[in-house]
Amino acid sequence: MALVRERDGKRLHVKSRLMGESLVGRTFMDGLAVAPQKRLFPDVNVVKIGGQSICDRGAQALPAIVKEIAACSRKHKILLTTGGGTRSRHIYAIGLELGMPTGIIAKFGSSISEQNALLVAMLLTPWGGIKIGHDDVTKLYTYFSQGCIPVMHGMPPYDYFALPAPKRRIPIHRTDVGTLIAADLIGARRCIFVKDERGLYTDDPKKNSRAAFIPEISVKELLARDLDDLIIERPCLEILQNSEVIRTIQIINGLEKGNLTKALSGKPVGTLIHRS
Ligand code: ADP
Ligand code: MG
Repeated sequence: MALVRERDGKRLHVKSRLMGESLVGRTFMDGLAVAPQKRLFPDVNVVKIGGQSICDRGAQALPAIVKEIAACSRKHKILLTTGGGTRSRHIYAIGLELGMPTGIIAKFGSSISEQNALLVAMLLTPWGGIKIGHDDVTKLYTYFSQGCIPVMHGMPPYDYFALPAPKRRIPIHRTDVGTLIAADLIGARRCIFVKDERGLYTDDPKKNSRAAFIPEISVKELLARDLDDLIIERPCLEILQNSEVIRTIQIINGLEKGNLTKALSGKPVGTLIHRS
């Protein structure tokens, strides 16, 4: 690649389209053409096992969903992620009371969702469950070729560098966000959130009995509705909207047997949120 000296003779650049740019300039960035994002693992399904909604139910929920995952893994490549749930909320509450910054709260969240990754991986060991770290995500095909079901924790690894969140210092990018970013990263076939409700409602159905079920919605419409509460972390909506490779996310009730099997086969169970 050619080296170019600036006209005043000062800086030596390596010639590229980005040479000398701040990467902030709007006009430049708007005009910059790039290749479409490559889908690295287009046949891998990313499935999040909810922390509060599934893992915290222990023996009431996990063995059944683990069995279903094991059966599905014979037909589908599945990368599992886990949420943190109640133990995250407990340490968040204590940390916040003691004035801990967002980055410390985020670090707490990572270690708890990692506990759940270990738990789910252990339950899956008879069928190839294996706990992996975020760095191992590039090795997915090696794991699948060995008959493994990789499980990694869902918290994005921003940790101490988690975006300082206004007012409550609870990181806005938690395990739903980490799951969706992982799906975008690998260009996943599907991104499925396994929780404890049928899907998205107009309000939290646990608190509002008049909340109406929404089987399908575009992310644009959902953003416009500006609902007071959501079944997935709010930044997921914008991440989906900006994704080049993920078209839809699906939220299903993992307490009902068969839903994951249906979702992996492309059946419209639960709620589908579409990019457009
Ligand atoms: P996870 O265990 O995956 O982290 P959460 O417990 O954080 O899941 O989120 C799922 C919960 O969100 C549901 O159990 C439900 O009570 C609540 N919820 C809040 N708003 C909504 C909504 N608009 N539609 C459906 N569920 C909602
Ligand atoms: Mg959650």
